[in-house]
Amino acid sequence: MTRNIERRGLLLVLSSPSGAGKSTLSRLLLDKDKNIALSISMTTRKPRPGERDGVDYNFVSIDEFERLVEQDGFLEHAKVFDNYYGTPAAPVERAMEAGRDVLFDIDWQGTQQLSQKVAKDLVRVFILPPSKPELERRLKQRAQDSAEVVAKRMSKASEEISHWDGYDYIIVNDDLGKAEQQLFAILQAERLNRERQTGLVSFVQEIIGED
Ligand code: 5GP
Repeated sequence: MTRNIERRGLLLVLSSPSGAGKSTLSRLLLDKDKNIALSISMTTRKPRPGERDGVDYNFVSIDEFERLVEQDGFLEHAKVFDNYYGTPAAPVERAMEAGRDVLFDIDWQGTQQLSQKVAKDLVRVFILPPSKPELERRLKQRAQDSAEVVAKRMSKASEEISHWDGYDYIIVNDDLGKAEQQLFAILQAERLNRERQTGLVSFVQEIIGED
């Protein structure tokens, strides 16, 4: 019989420029592994077609967002493009206490803030597109945004990419299946980190202790 050794939950951050495949990879990981849950961000951006309130984001007004900032209710928050985005602290704290892992789809600014607040629990992964033309192609394929928005995102992409060195792992997404496997491997390995396995001391004592 295999035994589950008690461990602390970890915080897995995924960042990338838009169009690198981050949302698809997050979805694949969440479907594959039921021990990791997505942190649902709060945003002042308007929902895109198909996006659901409370599932993709909690869509709020600027007033509501600012109220939570004043109450110190965010683990991190940032202005991305022209909208505010933030990670409400309470659900993350609850998941961590229950030993569950949390996945974050946040930008480099949020990742920097988390690095200062919860460094020990953090695993930071950056997804790169395979090339500039491929990034352009993927951005144009997204019909939801206007050409103006696409152009703005393209110019922001190189800015986001310039922060790649603030991450622990880099995945080049030229093959979705391979990138998914690599992301899953990172999660599996990080779960085995000695310091995260809080139940190891008593487990080892049981093994080497006297009968
Ligand atoms: P989108 O508007 O395309 O959903 O997201 C735009 C960018 O905002 C993405 O890079 C996404 O990772 C980032 N983002 C989404 N939620 C958060 C958040 O809670 N905090 C931060 N810092 N960035 C976020």
